[in-house]
Amino acid sequence: AAKEAGRANHQFFTPELNKRASERMWLESNLRHALADNELELHFQPQFAVDGRRLVGAEGLLRWRRRDGTMIPPGQFIPVAEDTGLIQPIGDWVLGEACRRAADLLARGHPILIAINLSAVQLRRPGLADRVAFWLDAYKVPARCLELEVTESVLMDESDMVTGTFARLREMGVALAIDDFGTGYSSLSYLKRFRVDKLKIDRSFVTSLTDGSDGGAIAEAIIGMARSLRMQTLAEGVETEEQFGGLARLGCDQIQGYLLGRPMPYDDFVAFIARHAATPEAVG
Ligand code: C2E
Ligand code: MG
Ligand code: MG
Ligand code: MG
Repeated sequence: AAKEAGRANHQFFTPELNKRASERMWLESNLRHALADNELELHFQPQFAVDGRRLVGAEGLLRWRRRDGTMIPPGQFIPVAEDTGLIQPIGDWVLGEACRRAADLLARGHPILIAINLSAVQLRRPGLADRVAFWLDAYKVPARCLELEVTESVLMDESDMVTGTFARLREMGVALAIDDFGTGYSSLSYLKRFRVDKLKIDRSFVTSLTDGSDGGAIAEAIIGMARSLRMQTLAEGVETEEQFGGLARLGCDQIQGYLLGRPMPYDDFVAFIARHAATPEAVG
């Protein structure tokens, strides 16, 4: 019977499914060691004010560099980290690393905003606001230098946990941005419950600015709404001058994308920033 079951399994698991299952198992068992073995890195992608193309901030993006030099993108391992609970220690490391780098930039005379991504899983567990407070204090970083990016689905969560955490972060003065704005839930009711500082316009709407599909109507609508609700807008994934020009005309506040800078290791970012005049007005 076992033999038959084995055969049945083989028919069920196509080579493709098999490959994916074993990749996932590999990720699960190796991700556990990635943190302890210092294989995680936070790379930084610059963010610019449209006005004068001033460098005003950076988004920290997680990278996993294997000992053999290969890089595993976050899209591949973050979901595994979320499913296994490893996102808690990994997310805490990201927070600490962002604060450590923000402090170093301050010491170098660059008071810029550092944004990091939070997973929904991190917000549903208690203690996130405490960890943010802990790391800010550990590196003596003013809260206004830190921005937390969450997706719309996180803000749709009306649980006391999520609401309470955001209330505390707000009291502390940490900024809140909505990532991939416009791709999630259509309800905007959460904008009444949470003070949101910034909407990050998803790359798909930036692309459609110039590919003739909707002529940028969605980007325009987001920018208009943000303005009347006194929120800032940042366009993600800006790759061309044409897109930059279109967004500038629509009144978008900030730009992030390959046109002006790719995500890079911290040392490269320090060199990059030295070539751009980061002004003291950049943060608060
Ligand atoms: P995201 O937060 O929306 O980050 C933007 C993604 O777009 C990044 O991909 C970035 O490298 C990429 N990007 C930036 N500019 C351009 C551009 O001009 N063109 C194109 N085609 N792409 C551009 P990345 O680094 O692979 O990250 C993917 C996603 O992984 C992020 O999307 C975020 O959701 C997640 N992620 C990254 N780091 C973390 C982290 O520390 N914690 C959590 N929970 N999620 C993270
Ligand atoms: Mg992001
Ligand atoms: Mg995004
Ligand atoms: Mg995204």
